[in-house]
Amino acid sequence: MIMQDSYESACQHSEKAHQIFTQHLLAPSPINYSVIYLYVCNRLPALNKEIEQHIAQDKLLTSEFIDQLFHKYIAETNNVESQVLAPFEKSINATMEKLKSQAISDKTMANNLELADRALNQSLANDNNADQAAVQKVLSFLSTNLTDSQSKHESLSKELAKTYQEVNQLKEKLKQSKEEAYLDALTGLLNRRGCDAKLADVTLEDAHCSLAIDIDHFKSINDTFGHFVGDKVIQRIAKVIKSNTSSKDVAVRFGGEEFVVVLTNQSVAQAKMIAETMRKEIHALRLMQRQTQTYLPPISVSIGIAEVNHDHTWKDVFERADKALYQAKETGRNRCVIAETVAA
Ligand code: GH3
Ligand code: MG
Ligand code: MG
Repeated sequence: MIMQDSYESACQHSEKAHQIFTQHLLAPSPINYSVIYLYVCNRLPALNKEIEQHIAQDKLLTSEFIDQLFHKYIAETNNVESQVLAPFEKSINATMEKLKSQAISDKTMANNLELADRALNQSLANDNNADQAAVQKVLSFLSTNLTDSQSKHESLSKELAKTYQEVNQLKEKLKQSKEEAYLDALTGLLNRRGCDAKLADVTLEDAHCSLAIDIDHFKSINDTFGHFVGDKVIQRIAKVIKSNTSSKDVAVRFGGEEFVVVLTNQSVAQAKMIAETMRKEIHALRLMQRQTQTYLPPISVSIGIAEVNHDHTWKDVFERADKALYQAKETGRNRCVIAETVAA
């Protein structure tokens, strides 16, 4: 449910949030702001409880702590969108509309007064009447005041338009940080969090296949060439995996040197072909350690393939793919093995 903040209460919450930033030496970044804003609004009891417990222990609110709360309560929910930005945007919109109609009626009023003022000036020139002079003075006074308030409205409108733009920028930054939170920094593939989020939109009813991919003897690459080269190998393999999947598929760096790919709407025969292509392309890579100009030995991966079939959860499918991967390792590595199907 969207909880709507009035413009005034949004400003008050914002003020309180800034006090907390100062007390806890926090930067007013979009992530910190979203968490602290929700805290001062007291909308999510569980979030408030965690922060209060933290403060009760005389601990400062660090960016790491806030980051963790952001992912727990905001990034994976629509809280920030529905509870902070949407109401704020709505209240700004409503205020801007009011100001616009107010400015129009002020303008009409100012025009009318100016007309009346001119008419009176003319009649004063003809007929020197003291009462008319007094009325004319009042009219001039009102007219000046109205012009003044009109320009104040205009500058307020400009300020609101600027705030509105800032809200949109904040929304964009949040969208980006949400996307970044779903990606693995080394490879650009999805991380496990991203995997869960993407799979939430894929129904298990349709035909899909899952690949479990693990680099063979990767430890010896690290031991011989160092961790840095090991990282480069992971990146190159991720590139091959990515180039063999479509945007509808879910390609994930599941752990250190392990990957999971969900091929959506693919039969097991198609999945086997894709897995074989990946395996061969990876084996054909010729990688060189730049520093020593030494070629790395051919790299290989083992792949387990499981077709979705009477599985209740993605975890079930992944476990079967993992078992098949284990068989691929046991039977010599650098190969693909298809998992057994499960009975209905
Ligand atoms: P197997 O063929 O049985 O899979 O052998 P393996 O050597 O690949 O398997 P093992 O699980 O013994 O070793 C995996 C190694 O991967 C150990 C770990 O140091 C390394 N590793 C895990 N994550 C990373 C990473 O992010 N970067 C680098 N460079 N190495 C990593
Ligand atoms: Mg492994
Ligand atoms: Mg391995």
